[in-house]
Amino acid sequence: MTRYVYDFIEGNKDLKDLLGGKGANLAEMTRMGLPVPPGFTVTTEACRDYLRTGMMPEGLLGEVERHLHLMQTRTSKTFGDADDPLLLSVRSGAKFSMPGMMETILDIGLNDASVAGLGRQSNDERFAWDSYRRLIQMFGKTVFDVPGEEFESELAAARSTAGVRTDAELSTAQLQDLVYAYKRVFREHAGRDFPQASHEQLFLSIGAVFRSWNAERATLYRRQERIPQDLGTAVNVMAMVFGNRGEDSGSVVAFTRDPATGRRGVYGDYLRNAQGEDVVAGIRNTVGLADLATIDPASHTQLLSIMQRLEQRYRDLCDIEFTIENGKLWMLQTRVGKRTPAAAFVIAAQLVDEGTITLDEALQRVTGEQLALLMFPSFDTAAAPPPLTIGVPASPGASVGAIVFDSAAAAAATGPVILVRRETNPDDLPGMIAAQGILTSRGGKTSHAAVVARGMGKTCVCGADELVIEGDTVTVGGRTLHAGDAISIDGTSGKVYPGSVAVRPSPVVRFFEGELTAHGDPLLSAVQRLMIHADHTARLDVHANADTGADAARARRFGATGVGLCRTEHMFLGERRQLVERLILADDDDERDGALAALLPLQRADFEELFAAMDGLPVTVRLIDPPLHEFLPPLEELTARVARAEALGEDAGRDATLLTAVRRMHEQNPMLGLRGVRLGLVIPGLFAMQVRAIAEAAASRATAGADPRPEIMVPLVGAVQELETVRAEAEAILADVPGAPPILIGTMIEVPRAALTAGQIAVSAEFFSFGTNDLTQMTWGFSRDDVEGAFFGRYIQLGVFAVSPFETIDSDGVGELVSIAVERGRATRPDLTVGVCGEHGGDPASVRFFHTAGLDYVSCSPFRVPVARLEAGRAAT
Ligand code: ADP
Ligand code: MG
Ligand code: MG
Repeated sequence: MTRYVYDFIEGNKDLKDLLGGKGANLAEMTRMGLPVPPGFTVTTEACRDYLRTGMMPEGLLGEVERHLHLMQTRTSKTFGDADDPLLLSVRSGAKFSMPGMMETILDIGLNDASVAGLGRQSNDERFAWDSYRRLIQMFGKTVFDVPGEEFESELAAARSTAGVRTDAELSTAQLQDLVYAYKRVFREHAGRDFPQASHEQLFLSIGAVFRSWNAERATLYRRQERIPQDLGTAVNVMAMVFGNRGEDSGSVVAFTRDPATGRRGVYGDYLRNAQGEDVVAGIRNTVGLADLATIDPASHTQLLSIMQRLEQRYRDLCDIEFTIENGKLWMLQTRVGKRTPAAAFVIAAQLVDEGTITLDEALQRVTGEQLALLMFPSFDTAAAPPPLTIGVPASPGASVGAIVFDSAAAAAATGPVILVRRETNPDDLPGMIAAQGILTSRGGKTSHAAVVARGMGKTCVCGADELVIEGDTVTVGGRTLHAGDAISIDGTSGKVYPGSVAVRPSPVVRFFEGELTAHGDPLLSAVQRLMIHADHTARLDVHANADTGADAARARRFGATGVGLCRTEHMFLGERRQLVERLILADDDDERDGALAALLPLQRADFEELFAAMDGLPVTVRLIDPPLHEFLPPLEELTARVARAEALGEDAGRDATLLTAVRRMHEQNPMLGLRGVRLGLVIPGLFAMQVRAIAEAAASRATAGADPRPEIMVPLVGAVQELETVRAEAEAILADVPGAPPILIGTMIEVPRAALTAGQIAVSAEFFSFGTNDLTQMTWGFSRDDVEGAFFGRYIQLGVFAVSPFETIDSDGVGELVSIAVERGRATRPDLTVGVCGEHGGDPASVRFFHTAGLDYVSCSPFRVPVARLEAGRAAT
């Protein structure tokens, strides 16, 4: 028969699946001989069973009774006893911490009779009645869904009748009246009396904690944190201890190191004569842990030694909660503590120094996401005014700008702006693109504003619901700001400041840039150390997407060992547009050749710069990819210009010619139209010019004694025949340029057909690079330029996916195509180099996937290179 209940003495910290995190850690502390109030854990399996059948699993109640009996023996108290009752807490505790998401019920076992017993035993009648009214409130809310406001309004009424300001001032008699009122509220909503039988209280509470797993907020939290929905929660039943039994009692929340900076030394808050919830809720002022040394030296000493033992056991920063009851210390909770990104790096390196963990383990204690957060600029909070309000931190960064209230104003603005809206919708997209940051008063982390901002890498604070946005003003806390007023938003903390707060560049970025040394700085030294180790263990190389010498040089400082994607279309912008127009409009070969000849030296110079910045390292140059009409003025603009000229009786001249060309080249689905390799096959001389520019640039550098290593990458190939045609032409040109080093020719894999026929394509391709943006777009059939704003927020809420597939690779679908292509490509050509370019290359979860898929490198924007390096190292340990 399955066993559903484990005494604390029977479990240990490795049983999180079965006992939940809290239960496993209570068991571990019990095994270590630490003072944990006696108790037991009902398993997650029992919860899953209950949620499936709607009934307590068979045998569970009997097991609970047996374990309860043991507790009674140990505490010499009896559950439900009228004179000296054993009181219990029933606490949820899932495998992954879900702070405040599920339920805890305290003081179970109190009833009309035992409340008097507790009062006598504790010599404190008021305390007993206060505990009783709390039980009815918590139990009513949790087990019978009695609206919390009903109790709150009774409590407020009691205060006002008594003429006092705080609950603590209510007398015993007033609390007795309140219990009476609470019971009435309970009866009205639950349709029955508050249960007096303590065992019934216990069993109903256990069921309610099981059900709290499926509470809406808990489900939503798991979706956001990517915690599986089917794990269930364990339930911990333990003896109550009381921190509110006078001046020699109290409660503490503490950390074994500073979770903000990682600094060594215990850190915590002590609240005298109070229950733990009061500390967590922050309703009363706490004192530092150091003060406990004078208040209660014995407990303080004991605490320090317990904290040290916990750190040794968990080999990490621990956060703990304990209660002192009449001078006796009781441990209520411990877990490996949450920490800031900076503290994560500092602590990982410290633990290596202390000989507690290895460098490999240290890499597992930090994440690419944390490093990415450390690389954002931040506000100089010392110089900042108090925040106006705090919203949901939805997309990190620190942005300052003038307030604009609509998309048009944002798009028209000349300086930096912050788009302030109640919420955003797809019509706001142009404004969101133009703005530095986005601030909304509604919606959470999956709102339109949040999803789109994260996709664009813009700062976003959403759901700042204290903001009242009306017309061209925003009001908060009695203060009104107008369009054009400066505002500062912090997407990492959610804080919103009035005015322009000074922005500090990230010291970590300055360190990578070589502007700061790590010496003497705990954070930078830790980052340096872990990056060195990551590079050492990584199997994936990290290249950068860079189009200019300057970008490539920066990427190199950030540790890139090559350029994985140079987008040549960026070399056709600015003044060169004229030449591209000439090329497109050419009606004969001479005209076209003339335009290409004029472009050639410009491209060659671009490549020389790029090869110089990446000397000795591979530079993968992608031949032109976007549809050519992207280089022409937009249809509407031209139509208006021509119409204006005609109205004035003038000759529209060149504009009229351009308009004809734009009309002729118009495509319904440009992303599926004449672009990539198709252009190369249709526009004579275009690819040839680019190949020649690459070869000549390489030849000129090689002749000068440098070591250029270009590679030519053909985009959007779907069939090997396309690539063969381009290759034949390119090889002829390469052979024609004296002094050019050997240049590999390969292809992007970004059309599903290319992935499926990778075995054939590899015959002609010397390397593959996955263009995962297009591959995702074409595999899902999602227009990447439209869908994020249109419906991804809804999709994420519905759980279709937890995160945009353009952000993290969809490993089941798109990833499967990647794996197929790697396998088939290498079957044809075992030494095929395979990489990925596109933003997935800098996304931590995606990097881990590419490592597993056996790629040789990832390529990402220069700024993400350190993140990818760290994740590549982590993936390999
Ligand atoms: P959460 O997971 O939301 O932190 P907990 O199960 O830790 O919920 O319970 C919330 C609070 O209830 C604890 O922080 C602690 O102060 C109090 N508590 C729980 N069990 C006991 C107990 N046996 N004795 C005294 N206080 C308790
Ligand atoms: Mg807790
Ligand atoms: Mg592409």
